[in-house]
Amino acid sequence: MADCLFCKIAAGEIESELVHESGGVVAFRDINPAAPTHILVIPREHIESADHLTETKGVLLGELFATIAGLAEKEGLGDGYRVVTNIGRDAGQSVDHLHFHLMGGRQMSWPPG
Ligand code: 5GP
Ligand code: ZN
Repeated sequence: MADCLFCKIAAGEIESELVHESGGVVAFRDINPAAPTHILVIPREHIESADHLTETKGVLLGELFATIAGLAEKEGLGDGYRVVTNIGRDAGQSVDHLHFHLMGGRQMSWPPG
């Protein structure tokens, strides 16, 4: 997608602090972290949100979550971490490219605001 911020980050056209890169998945630190560890894990492929996933994306989803688990271990989040994906404006989605927030390193409250 020509005008998508996260497509541009995945393509290296916009700078970010990358922490993981593979053929299908990219992960980078959130520019405005809400926890000591706050990483965004995204598919390279432009998918608007989790609302646009289909069964054909099963392998990609597996890679996204395996990446999340690997990064959580690397970041020392053995006591727990949170994975969030916002869908649509009411949920607070501000970038329309599927992304999973990996957050940890502090006690999380529930329910989220
Ligand atoms: P959303 O609100 O869509 O769930 O999450 C979007 C996230 O992207 C926010 O946490 C925001 O801080 C982060 N973000 C927005 N622009 C940039 C950017 O240019 N670089 C990085 N690394 N993160 C960004
Ligand atoms: Zn995109």
